[in-house]
Parts: sequence; structure tokens; C-alpha cells
Amino acid sequence: MSGNPLPCPCGRGSGYETCCGSLHQGAAAANAEALMRSRYSAYVLHLEPYLLSTWHASTRPPHLGFDDEPELKWLALQVKRHETSGDSAIVEFVARYRQGERGQRLHEVSRFVREAGRWYYVDGQFVG
Ligand SMILES: [Zn+2]
Repeated sequence: MSGNPLPCPCGRGSGYETCCGSLHQGAAAANAEALMRSRYSAYVLHLEPYLLSTWHASTRPPHLGFDDEPELKWLALQVKRHETSGDSAIVEFVARYRQGERGQRLHEVSRFVREAGRWYYVDGQFVG
């Protein structure tokens, strides 16, 4: 019983259930871009446990401050580059969000590593 699938926050054409939703339910990301997209969607949906569980242990914060940023609203994601080399990868993206009245743009190159078949976010550098 399903009508139109809920669109995925990451912006891909397929619905949430078959896109980032399956990763949020525990499926392993096929590559770093898929993990990055699922983490963006998790920010949209405030899935703090998912974000922490996909953060590499060496850089993972103790918690995320969703409650401290009530006015931040993510609007759109654009993946610009995805390069994999063995068990490490980078994903360059632009994410747009609104905080209060102001539209903002986050341009970042994120680093990922794969351990035991699972990709993890390590850290990111702002671009520009
Ligand atoms: Zn998605």
C-alpha cells in the first residue's frame, strides 16, 4: 500500500524508502557518495544516532547540537565530485540551507574511509 513515494531529502529521483531510508534502516552504503547523501538526509530529518554511527570514531563528536540550531533548515544538496581510491574517498558537495532569514551555502570536501565494508565520514574542509 503505497501512493507516491516520499521524495528523498537528498534530492535523488527515487523515493526516500529506497534511497537514504534504507541506509537509515541499517543497510550498508554502496559508496561514499551514497553515505554522504544519507548523512545529508539525516541532518534534514535530525537523525542524530545515524549521524554519529556513520562518523569515524577518530573524529566523532560526543553529540550534535540540533537543539541549539532550531532555525537551521536544509534546502538542497548538490554533489559535485566523488572520487574513490581503495578504502578512502572524497565527496565534494554544496548544501544550501536557511538560518533565520538568511540563505546560506555550505561548500565542502568531505573525506571518508571504509572499514569492514562500511563507509564512515572522517572530516571535511570548506571550499572557497
Ligand atoms: Zn536519498
